[in-house]
Order: sequence, then structure tokens, then C-alpha cells
Amino acid sequence: MVFHYREGSLHIEQVPLEKIARRFGTPCYVYSRAAIEHAYDEFELALKGRKSLICYSVKANPNLAVLALMAQRGAGFDIVSGGELRRVLAAGGDPRKVVFSGVGKTEAEIESALRAGILSLNLESEAELERVDRVAQRLRRRAPVAFRVNPDVDPGTHPYISTGLKQNKFGVAYEDAERLYRDAARRKWIRLVGIGCHIGSQITSIAPFVDAAGRLIALTERLANAGIRLRHIDLGGGFGIRYSNEDPATVAEFLDGTLGMLADRSEVLIVDPGRALVGNSGALLARVEYVKRGEARNFLVVDAAMNDLLRPSLYDAWHEVRTVCEAPDAVEDCYDVVGPVCESGDFLAHERRLAAKTGDLLAILSAGAYGMSMSSNYNSRPRAAEVMVSGRTVKLIRRRETVRDLFALESIPRWKED
Ligand SMILES: *Cc1c(COP(=O)(O)O)cnc(C)c1O
Repeated sequence: MVFHYREGSLHIEQVPLEKIARRFGTPCYVYSRAAIEHAYDEFELALKGRKSLICYSVKANPNLAVLALMAQRGAGFDIVSGGELRRVLAAGGDPRKVVFSGVGKTEAEIESALRAGILSLNLESEAELERVDRVAQRLRRRAPVAFRVNPDVDPGTHPYISTGLKQNKFGVAYEDAERLYRDAARRKWIRLVGIGCHIGSQITSIAPFVDAAGRLIALTERLANAGIRLRHIDLGGGFGIRYSNEDPATVAEFLDGTLGMLADRSEVLIVDPGRALVGNSGALLARVEYVKRGEARNFLVVDAAMNDLLRPSLYDAWHEVRTVCEAPDAVEDCYDVVGPVCESGDFLAHERRLAAKTGDLLAILSAGAYGMSMSSNYNSRPRAAEVMVSGRTVKLIRRRETVRDLFALESIPRWKED
């Protein structure tokens, strides 16, 4: 177990969380290196014997230390911006294993991707094909492209994180794909390398994933028959994890059916998991500042807020909250765990039974994905520190921001009339 109690004190690997909080302050994100490695192993094992590539979805947790760990394991990367490409390169990632997704790639982003020599630009519209073709011609570099096809499959997840339906902004329509491939195949500066999809995030059942894969494979087959041979099939990410009582399929279960369908095909299978690789590796540590009792509700006001962990406010997401030190005489009560930000939507958890008092440390679990990466400085709150633990060793991987950092880029103009 990555997070476990020893003598009444919650540990990450071999280190007490209380010790990390005292050393680095709170709020603080802490990640287990072993947990990330273990999650990566699971994908490797499930894909064993298949020509495949695991492209870690950078947006889940883009810290350089996390990216470097993935790079060491031989991972590729799924990126959605030029900024993420720079991070991957800075962390020692191999550009030839990078796939670039997203509906709004700018010319500058396309240019830097082509210069870096990435594996594939995953195109999401006809207009983007035109743009990539133009940039490639200008640079005199053939652009490796795939289309992200929208298989119109309902992933059965939160509407904000479902991406593969007709009404979503992502991907090209399934019905248009063949025409777009034929168009792209005629262009001198375009090299067709693959096909992709990504139907959503936090998918817990196998059926939508296998449906999408089936539709993609059928299309790949039709294209091959039309003389358009692709090198890879990218099935996206979205593998669900357990936050509370979900019972997500295992990685092997997700992939088994698909691997069966692909058995006599030669394309490289790409998956781009984000959450499944890092989500359960991390916790957000927060200190209780006040216990506030009200008529309708009791509150634990903590020093972390929606700017640190947005998922509860944004998706009504559920994160397990634990008291780090189990005091035998502590009294349990029902609390909303809230932050100091001036929004009613600023909460981390609703109606939890916790035995906590002022000064106690709380761990908000499953915060390794879309935690720090979605954080902001709202209310002029410096962003949290990030720490990675390996066994008994603790490393700071991002120092806490200072208030000075927050306004370092700002200036007060001097107007003529002053
Ligand atoms: C966000 C994203 C992923 C990763 O999603 P997870 O749910 O974190 O696995 C994979 N592929 C694409 C194209 C994405 O946009």
C-alpha cells in the first residue's frame, strides 16, 4: 500500500506525511515514485508481446520529475500544447515518441513540433490539415499526421470529461474520416502515420472503450483496403481509477478485448493514459485552520482550496479525505472540508465523518492527476509545493511559490498625465 497507517500515523511509502508537512509546509502535493512505477508496470504487462507505445498524457501531471520518470521508463508522451512539448524535451523525453493532440494548435506550435521531429500530429479538423500542410511546406519537412476520429461513443462519465460524442468539440466525425484521409494522402507535405481517438476520462467500464476501438479498427481496415496504410492506432486514455467506491476495470481488462481485435494487424498500438498512471500516486496535504460549527453544517476550514485542487468544484469530484494522525480519544463529526477562497464552490469534500481539530493535518487522496496541473493563483494564493517520495527518500520537485512570484510579471504603468 502506498498510503498506509503505521502506529496511528499516515505514511507515504516509508515516510510519515506529518514529517513532510512540517518540512515543506502546507498545502503540499506529495507523490509516490513507487506508485507511478507500479501503474506504469501494469500497462507494460498488459501490452507485453504487442508492438506498442505508452504515451503518458502530460496534462495529468506535468511536473518535470514525473516526466523524467516516465522518460526513463521508455514512455512516450501525449501533449496538448507547445508548452508541454518544451517540458517533455526539458525532462529528457524522446520527441520521436510524442503525439500532439488538441483542437487549437497554433502555427507556432505546429512548427515547433515539426522541428522537434515528433511522432504524430493528431489532427482534429480539416482546417488543421490545411494549416499543417502549409507549415510543413514552408519548413520543407513532411508532417507526420493522424486524424483523431470521433467514434460517437458515450463513455458513461461526467459530461465535462466525455469527449467522443458528436456534440463534443473534439475529433473529426467518423463519417468524414475516410474522405479526409484520401485528401491528406494526396498532399506531398503530409505523411499519414496513424489514426486516433480519445472518448473521455475516468471511464470505468470496458464496453465503451472496446466499442470505440472496434470502430477505429474497422476504419483502419477500410483505409488499408483503399491503399492507405497506417503505422499506428492510438486508442487514447481515459482509464478510470478508484476515488471512492468505483470498481474500474483493470488495465488488462480494458486492453484484452482490443488486443484480441488487433491480433492479426501489424499497426503499433498506442495508449495515452494520464490519470491511471499518476492519479492514485499523490495526495494533497492540508492543515485545519479552523473548526467552524454552524446550524446546518460543520466546516473544517483548511489551508488548501479550490485553487489548489479544482476537481471537486469543477466536476463535483469525490476525493477521500483522511486524518493523518489517528488520535484514540478524538471525536468524529460530520464536516464539509472547505478552503479560504471567496466562492461558495470552494470545497474539497462534503459531509465527511472525520475526527479532526484545529492544527490537524489532512490528506486528500487520489490527487496525483489533474491536481497541481489545474491549480491557479486565484485569490493571490501561491501554488503549493510538490514533493516526491521514494522509499525513505524525500525530494522537493517544485518549491512553493512566493507572493513575490505572483506579481513578478506585472508592472504599474506610468501615464503621461501623472
Ligand atoms: C486528456 C487526454 C488523455 C488522458 O486522459 P486520462 O483520462 O487522464 O487518461 C489522453 N488522450 C488525450 C487526447 C487527452 O486529451
